[in-house]
Amino acid sequence: MPNLSEVISFCTRKGFINQSSEIYGGLSGCYDYGPNGAQLKRRIENIWWNENVENQENIIGFDSSILMRNEVWQASGHVSGFHDPMVDCKSCKSRYREDQIDINQNCPDCGEKNWTDIRQFNLMLSTKIGAMEDSAKQVYLRPETAQGIFVNAINVARNSRMNAPFGIAQIGKSFRNEITPRNFLFRVREFTQMEIEFFCHPDDAPDFFEEWCSRRMSFYTESLGMDSAKLHFRDHGKEELAHYAASCRDVEYDFPFGLKELEGIANRGSFDLEQHMKHSKKNLTLSDPQKGKFVPSVIESSAGVDRTLLAVICDSLDVSDPNHIILKINPKLANIQVAILPLVKKDGMPEKAIEIKDRLHSSYRKKIEISGSIGKRYYREDEIGTPICITVDGDTNNDDSVTVRYRDTGKQDRIKIDSLNELLEKVFK
Ligand code: ATP
Repeated sequence: MPNLSEVISFCTRKGFINQSSEIYGGLSGCYDYGPNGAQLKRRIENIWWNENVENQENIIGFDSSILMRNEVWQASGHVSGFHDPMVDCKSCKSRYREDQIDINQNCPDCGEKNWTDIRQFNLMLSTKIGAMEDSAKQVYLRPETAQGIFVNAINVARNSRMNAPFGIAQIGKSFRNEITPRNFLFRVREFTQMEIEFFCHPDDAPDFFEEWCSRRMSFYTESLGMDSAKLHFRDHGKEELAHYAASCRDVEYDFPFGLKELEGIANRGSFDLEQHMKHSKKNLTLSDPQKGKFVPSVIESSAGVDRTLLAVICDSLDVSDPNHIILKINPKLANIQVAILPLVKKDGMPEKAIEIKDRLHSSYRKKIEISGSIGKRYYREDEIGTPICITVDGDTNNDDSVTVRYRDTGKQDRIKIDSLNELLEKVFK
């Protein structure tokens, strides 16, 4: 596996990710996605959305606003309880999350032991809405997408004529004023979450919790094709569990900087809806012909797109030969899926390449690449993860065939142009 600095340098160099406002020195904890990164991020989101919304009859998609009334965050407990403990080193001014270091030891930065008291730091970022400075109202930027679902859930269910069990899924930006953003995309201040709140009768919650855990694990292993040996479940112990949660299990990935959370799956009981009922005084119960009236329990799965994308890159980046780096990413996730490389700049060649490109199925993202020697072109495509290269050469016009080269093995096959779509179907199945 590559180390983190190899991953960062690869991502910056190859147009995946760079720091926000880079030309002004960068903004800590915020990143921009370049052409290869934006496409990878979108592909991960689309696979999640297709799997959980497009292909599920009892899960609906949702898109709530980032700014909400402050009552939402009071009811959810974020105003009073969304804190991290913070300590500063008085000698070198480094700042840490107290739960991530040992303050009985010396400062990891300067080696002295000169800590401030532990202070609680609220992670919510805020802004103001309204034109007049003095009457403008302070509002929070949401620290999770979940509450936008909770405050709408019962209305949405009634309007969509859904009965429990049903789910509401959302992909969107969340913001946290992390004390120490670190490990590249792993802990940032602006990130994208993919969350599903699954509402069911309380009696059914333990079974649905187990079902969601296995569905979510197979998202990483089957749908994204990540290495199952690097993915693990971790159950929260009693002391770690939120007071309202019956169970909580993290999906963890073996990152170059250690085993860390990718996603949290929790049986939250009816806590969130009860809280919003209490604060809004609205009726947030469901009624069922057999089970009568009840406040549904919620199984939540909350995944970070940025952390997933980082894990996907760590999982597939082969740096064993520094002169020939290969991103062995799942073909479905590659930005360019088929590169067509005309070998000779002779009359008729670009036209032939265009003709072949037009004959390939429209669902694949394709490009024609003419610059550089063929070897250099192969290496460039390997580095950004293009799974298939099709080389058009001097014989193509005579034998109606091309050379197909596979990214992970470098193996080449001579294939009739007519059979290309069939071959691609197998590669991208
Ligand atoms: P951590 O303990 O790592 O701070 P958390 O338990 O607070 O994470 P949740 O509130 O459960 O995280 O958020 C759900 C998911 O959202 C996380 O599993 C992660 O993928 C993503 N996420 C949360 N905070 C961040 C962040 N600062 N940067 C990137 N992704 C994040």
